[in-house]
Amino acid sequence: MDKKSYIIVAVAALLSTGLCMKGYADTVTTGDGTVTAIVEASGTAAESAIVDTTGASQAVSGTEAVVNEVQTVMETTNANETETTQASLTTAGTEAAQGEIGPKASPSTETGTASTTSEVGPMAGTGAAQAASGADSTMTANSAADSNVYADGLGDTLPLPAGFHFNNIATYTYQNMVDDLTVLKAQFPEMQMDVLGTTADNRSLYHVVVGNPNAKHKILVHAGIHAREYIVSQLCMREIASLLEMQQKGTVYRGCSVPELLQNTCIHFVPMVDPDGITLVQGGIDALQTVAAKTSVLTIAGFDGATDMGTYLRTWKNNINGVNLNRNFDANWSEAAAKVDHPSSMNYKGTAPESEIESKMLADLTRAIMPDRTISYHTQGKVIYWYFGETGTYKNEGLNLATIVHNNSGYAISNSWSQTDAAGYKDWAVQKLDIPSVTIECGIGTSPVPEEQIESMWTRNDGILPDLLIDLLNK
Ligand SMILES: [Zn+2]
Repeated sequence: MDKKSYIIVAVAALLSTGLCMKGYADTVTTGDGTVTAIVEASGTAAESAIVDTTGASQAVSGTEAVVNEVQTVMETTNANETETTQASLTTAGTEAAQGEIGPKASPSTETGTASTTSEVGPMAGTGAAQAASGADSTMTANSAADSNVYADGLGDTLPLPAGFHFNNIATYTYQNMVDDLTVLKAQFPEMQMDVLGTTADNRSLYHVVVGNPNAKHKILVHAGIHAREYIVSQLCMREIASLLEMQQKGTVYRGCSVPELLQNTCIHFVPMVDPDGITLVQGGIDALQTVAAKTSVLTIAGFDGATDMGTYLRTWKNNINGVNLNRNFDANWSEAAAKVDHPSSMNYKGTAPESEIESKMLADLTRAIMPDRTISYHTQGKVIYWYFGETGTYKNEGLNLATIVHNNSGYAISNSWSQTDAAGYKDWAVQKLDIPSVTIECGIGTSPVPEEQIESMWTRNDGILPDLLIDLLNK
């Protein structure tokens, strides 16, 4: 056995014996002084992620990749980014291609040893049957002997408590979220929850904290800032519930105790940033509560010259004032291309940065907690955006974050940015606060994407936050 092989075996042994390891790729210095990245010795997922995205299969040999880590990934993803992104976009309406660009197999096999997809989906909401299937999935999803030990978020589908609306394959509404949060709070009293503000149509902007609120590190996750992309609010609720379940059960994830990880890092969630817009997309004008909001929508439809009201409302992106909340942050806001100069169902950036309650409360929360990382969940395209022209140490940290997301999801990393495609939350967190941040575009097709995509979205995203908790262990 040569020296490199020995090191790989040693790392594999450490992983299998449960030592809490940091990151997917650990660098070691071999006898000849070469810095070598060991790509997750216990599996092929991370390695195939690099191969699939870069197309540079010759760069990976066996379980070991000799890479000038960050630089190589950056260069090769640059070169292939457009192609990969287009490939995923041209498969609109199906998920068929996703296995080709990512570490996970196609939907039919991506749950691997788990029967979770079929069980948690159609049977969800059926009470006892669902509870039983939840227990089953915990057992079958877990390849380890100990049912509370998980090797990673790739082969293993992480635990998810049963009996909630977010388990269902169905339109996930604001009221579903409120109900789920109420039950979660009762079952997991360690969860912290409050309301950051009230929207124009009288809905609450919920804020949840999982983990020690006084932790050294913090992550901020938000979802549902674009109305027609509401499925990611359901995804975000699954992330909250899964972490709570693992915290309560004392789950061991990749050799690390989840309760201990959550002592070191807490996660702030705003699972539904635009509940008014989401309610409009899902239920039409009649679902709105106030006369003012209904009048506002009809006025905006007039500005937009809407004719087919069904399609128009179904593809509404903005808040109820007709502002695109993700064009309403103070990052090149003046330069951001104004596609329309009136309140609209999409694209209008508002009268000033943070002119809207939803964007202001998110910015206020971010300034108050100053998280180490932020994640913005959107649909669609299976792309990760992380860059907004930053240089220096930020760049490595930002790309590292994007790479962790990529290693789980298989979504392509985009390195592009533009001065005029600006004023998004991630752009602002990066440019003004220097916080490594990603926008994750989940799913494929056109928004709203089909509700069935929640299952593959979950299996592609369930390990991201646990992996980030590990990544922040030694920072
Ligand atoms: Zn979006």
